[in-house]
Amino acid sequence: MPKKKTSSTASHSVSKSEITNLKSIDSLKKKRNEPIVISKLVKNLINQDISALSKAITLIESKSPKHSKKAKLLLEACLPHANRSIRIGITGVPGVGKSTFIEAFGTYLTGLGKRVAILAIDPSSSISKGSILGDKTRMEALVKDKKAFIRPSATGESLGGTARTTRESVVLCEAAGYDIIIIETVGVGQSETKVRGMVDFFLLLKLAGAGDELQGIKRGIIELADAIAINKSDGNNVKAALFAMKEFKRALHLFPARDSGWFPKVITCSALRNEGISNIWNMITEYVELTRNNGYFDKIRQEQNKTWLIQTIESRLKSRFFNADIIKKALPEQLDLIEKNKITPFAAADYLLSLSEM
Ligand code: GDP
Repeated sequence: MPKKKTSSTASHSVSKSEITNLKSIDSLKKKRNEPIVISKLVKNLINQDISALSKAITLIESKSPKHSKKAKLLLEACLPHANRSIRIGITGVPGVGKSTFIEAFGTYLTGLGKRVAILAIDPSSSISKGSILGDKTRMEALVKDKKAFIRPSATGESLGGTARTTRESVVLCEAAGYDIIIIETVGVGQSETKVRGMVDFFLLLKLAGAGDELQGIKRGIIELADAIAINKSDGNNVKAALFAMKEFKRALHLFPARDSGWFPKVITCSALRNEGISNIWNMITEYVELTRNNGYFDKIRQEQNKTWLIQTIESRLKSRFFNADIIKKALPEQLDLIEKNKITPFAAADYLLSLSEM
């Protein structure tokens, strides 16, 4: 009778399943190092392959010069398939319930058979890292939903860089057949203006009784919003939410009429209890219908594209200027002269610009 393998020999030999694992790790590594074939990536992306979409976004986010040519080809191939979604921006201060709302709203939309992509811009994430990861876990149902795609912005990017990649990600998501693109941003500053310039409809989430109603109006975010949703309108908070709604409605009357022909609406909801969510979607479809009929919808997208062109030129000129060797050498010298009061900033700027022949 052949002897049974002792446990000691078994521990030294590699089991079949281990070999299979190693082989699959090997093939994964190979795949990862495979050069990106743009035509194949575009084909898979248009066929709604989520991993192709993720890969495509990673490519446009890449700062490596060897990827930038491919990223351009990718975008050009995707552009004819873009422009078909409804783009919604959602903003609000931390804690207002953005993730909870997007979870409820997104799930509602996928329930209607829509494919929903969520792109998150978190200007604080480059400092805090991982806060978006928290977002993902707070969107438990959506993460598992096959009709939903969630993508945080690349951390460590400047807001300008994030804005570019977000715009380009919108194009990619549309080419991948997403009907609704939600761009989430933390309402703490400039990011709202950037997001406003990328979306068709801008929704501001607010809390009742936070004492910031009038402050918010002064800060001007409200001027950007097509609707204000007072969230957490549940339990003991319902009365305060209704009061805040009235206040906002009254305040909004002070603003001039909009080119869109749309009068911004104020609505209450409870993301946690899934209440008022369908009202918000109905309101957005009403807006889209109105602005598609009066031509504003297309007009504003064209305006946004023109702004995109100008911003792209500005950012490329800027990076070309600051990355030129001659400027890298001369700039510290000029800064030093300014510190010693030996030259004015204007003269230094003239000199540097003349060096770069721009
Ligand atoms: P975010 O920072 O804006 O993304 O906010 P979160 O979605 O993380 O929500 C912050 C907290 O508010 C969490 O504890 C949520 O459970 C809670 N929250 C969100 N929406 C509602 C709501 O409609 N009603 C109530 N009562 N709590 C909510």
